[in-house]
Amino acid sequence: MAKIVVLGAGTGGMPAAYEIKHLLGQEHQVLMVNERENFRFIPSNPWVAVGWREPDAISIPIAKHLAKKHIDFICAFVTKIDADNNQLITAEHDVIDYDYLVIASDSNWHLIQFLGHIQSTLLSRCALLNMHCPVKIISMHSLLIQSLY
Ligand SMILES: Cc1cc2nc3c(=O)[nH]c(=O)nc-3n(C[C@H](O)[C@H](O)[C@H](O)COP(=O)(O)OP(=O)(O)OC[C@H]3O[C@@H](n4cnc5c(N)ncnc54)[C@H](O)[C@@H]3O)c2cc1C
Repeated sequence: MAKIVVLGAGTGGMPAAYEIKHLLGQEHQVLMVNERENFRFIPSNPWVAVGWREPDAISIPIAKHLAKKHIDFICAFVTKIDADNNQLITAEHDVIDYDYLVIASDSNWHLIQFLGHIQSTLLSRCALLNMHCPVKIISMHSLLIQSLY
């Protein structure tokens, strides 16, 4: 069983987790890691700002929804990606192991800078995902399928 960790339950990371689980099935573990318990639909932020919506109306609890598809969830702020050892380090100093990592933390470049010196590891075990770069999802899927089957 491979463990695929998706970092970031945003507009890109949530569908990526669902798609990966759908493709790989129960044989492999998919784990979402996000700093907050709730998914927020970012484009609706201005509606909250001007009082047209309550914050609850544009967010859903991540764990509850992912559990329906047997996707695991850890609420934690990741402070470091240790790609040499295939590990995420959290602000609480917990270690989350992965076999494959999808980085969907948007423009959180302070995290991604850790990857600068390990491009080969990045290419072999990680995929960078942004909502506006769907080609990365496709290449990641190919990578996973080639590696696991
Ligand atoms: C007001 C507004 C309107 C917009 N309207 C549109 C639109 O109409 N159409 C469109 O295409 N785009 C729109 N966008 C842009 C769109 O919202 C973003 O491009 C999109 O949300 C990016 O998705 P993402 O998954 O890459 O990142 P995000 O949705 O930002 O998700 C990143 C996730 O990673 C988590 N995270 C980050 N760092 C860490 C960490 N260190 N540890 C743990 N978790 C972490 C965050 O909490 C977040 O849940 C809009 C943006 C704004 C602000």
